[in-house]
Amino acid sequence: MIVQTRSWVIDEPWVDLAACRSFDPMLFFPLPGGDERTPMAICENCCVVEACLDYAIRTNERWGIWGGTTQRYRRKLSRLLRRQAA
Ligand code: SF4
Repeated sequence: MIVQTRSWVIDEPWVDLAACRSFDPMLFFPLPGGDERTPMAICENCCVVEACLDYAIRTNERWGIWGGTTQRYRRKLSRLLRRQAA
């Protein structure tokens, strides 16, 4: 279900293989202090986790769990990648 929702915006081949497609999309957008473990556990078993994370970094996805990462982690990763590219 989440990928069906996300696929309205995402036109990438990996979307069809996403493990989260049968889950409630809101599960992947927990409120501050909410449950991040459940969606992250789903990501752990997803065969497109790397493509999903790559997409989230490329498009600067600011909210939600993508590629098994939180928004906080992606911000740190993006800063690190920018420093390495400089
Ligand atoms: S890595 Fe997680 S958020 Fe990304 S497609 Fe897979 S299950 Fe969905």
